[in-house]
Amino acid sequence: KRQESIRNFSIIAHIDHGKSTLADRILQQTETVSDREMQAQLLDSMDLERERGITIKLNAVELTYNAKDGKEYIFHLIDTPGHVDFSYEVSRSLAACEGAVLVVDAAQGIEAQTLANVYLAIDNDLEILPVINKIDLPAADPERVRGEIEDVIGIDASEAVLASAKAGIGIEEILEQIVEYVPAPIGDVEAPLKALIFDSVYDSYRGVVLNIRVMEGVVKPGDVIKLMSNDKEYEVTEVGIFSPKAVQKDFLMVGDVGYVTASIKNIQDTRVGDTITLADNPADEALEGYRRMNPMVYCGLYPIDTSKNVELREALEKLELNDSALEFEAETSQALGFGFRCGFLGLLHMDVIQERLEREFNLDLITTAPSVIYHVNRTDGSMQVIDNPADFPDPSMIESVEEPFVKANIMVPNDYVGAVMEISQRKRGEFVTMDYLDEYRVNVVYNLPLSEIVYDFFDKLKSSTKGYASFDYELIGYRPSNLVKMEILLNNETVDALSFIVHREFAYERGRLIVDKLRKLIPRQQFEVPIQAAIGTKIVARTDIKALRKNVLAKCYGGDVSRKRKLLEKQKEGKKRMKSIGSVEVPQDAFMAVLKMD
Ligand code: GDP
Ligand code: MG
Repeated sequence: KRQESIRNFSIIAHIDHGKSTLADRILQQTETVSDREMQAQLLDSMDLERERGITIKLNAVELTYNAKDGKEYIFHLIDTPGHVDFSYEVSRSLAACEGAVLVVDAAQGIEAQTLANVYLAIDNDLEILPVINKIDLPAADPERVRGEIEDVIGIDASEAVLASAKAGIGIEEILEQIVEYVPAPIGDVEAPLKALIFDSVYDSYRGVVLNIRVMEGVVKPGDVIKLMSNDKEYEVTEVGIFSPKAVQKDFLMVGDVGYVTASIKNIQDTRVGDTITLADNPADEALEGYRRMNPMVYCGLYPIDTSKNVELREALEKLELNDSALEFEAETSQALGFGFRCGFLGLLHMDVIQERLEREFNLDLITTAPSVIYHVNRTDGSMQVIDNPADFPDPSMIESVEEPFVKANIMVPNDYVGAVMEISQRKRGEFVTMDYLDEYRVNVVYNLPLSEIVYDFFDKLKSSTKGYASFDYELIGYRPSNLVKMEILLNNETVDALSFIVHREFAYERGRLIVDKLRKLIPRQQFEVPIQAAIGTKIVARTDIKALRKNVLAKCYGGDVSRKRKLLEKQKEGKKRMKSIGSVEVPQDAFMAVLKMD
């Protein structure tokens, strides 16, 4: 039976432990792509992308493997899209699998993301196959790592494959273990269709392309499918698999992983995590969707060219399609005009979205400094949820403020434990525990305010541990803190987009730092510009940007026209990333200046 020969799995790993390299090796070993084709195929699909202006994501590749038992197996290697830090994305891919190949670097051992990913796999009831990779490295210590996997994760690692994805060692053993240990998909082919949407992409020709895992039943072209969350119906135009090129199929059945198109033009209709069924023979209930992840970090995104506001909205809608953790809503800033308040799972998520907006949608953006969500208990007894420092009420209306705290796992070689504790302490951390992972490495646990992590915790941690620390955190709840809003005044006017929330203890220091930093970042103007940092009506720091001594054009007066034009163009170039606030030109960097200060 076809169903019994299917194996659906993902590869999970801490970044750089060799996930992509192993995936490539598996594609080669199973001759899904030959050594020579490998390059050629990738190029082909890139040409197609260029020609048709679409983005092709290879999320789930189908491969055939001729196992040692003489049978042929169908493997679906489901990539965990996006960065490994996006536990949400990892988790939705894992929901489409029965097994996970866990790659651990033989020299590095278990890192924070190894653990975070393993827990997601365990939550999804997956069979976990440990692989100790990079055994070719001189520093490799596979037996130590084997011990770590058993002690720290608590799974049997006696059969962990010793591999080198780079040198092609152990690949066949991994494939054999997948056949032997990853269960074939269960589910009834006769039952009404139930398929999980685990990703989707927008294609301007075919509409939304849904990546699905069929859990029950069959789907084929001509079927009328129904999206269970909103009862929208569509006729299927095409089904297929990626191998890794898209290959059309007559049907997809239980256990299959592939794509469905149905001329879906309205991208809001399809949500990753939703279930599709058949309109004339619907399933009783939807599959368990994904745990909805709530954004933890917010920032404002504003197009530099204010006429690009509609484009920015459309771009955000397209990104939201396969990233349901992204949130946005229109907002207006006195300083920056019309834009969007956007919510992200973390800083990395924010960076990636920002970069995609700029690269894929060609938008020039001003990004305001990220903020966490504060709970403000007002004197009238109400509680206000605030994701934008500019909305912070007047101090006279505040009874108390609570901020989100996280539990952070920080893994480091024991030489750096002192450094980790020092930083955590300085960031208002509360020590929880410290455990040895093995002889050399330690897991240090601290409770920390999320805002300090957003601020510069990770950078500080990396630099003081020579990059050896890995780090992961989860929200543990809200706690009261002595927080105040710092406002920044340029030329005596408050710039709402520069406001930030700070612990009172650090307020003076940070106020001082920010005005100094802004003085360096904001170019001189024709007139003197005072910069002030204020808490309520109290100015805590002040500095001035001196006026330009001369008009740049003055010395060209009546002179060489082309030289004058060049100068003007140069000025214009410099203005690209600037926003006029009142009469002051402010560069993008200034809005992020409240972050990353040393
Ligand atoms: P990913 O971030 O987990 O996808 O990791 P990559 O597959 O991109 O690998 C990260 C780096 O480790 C790359 O420079 C690879 O060439 C290297 N690498 C991967 N597997 C091996 C291996 O088995 N041995 C050695 N020496 N290097 C490897
Ligand atoms: Mg990779």
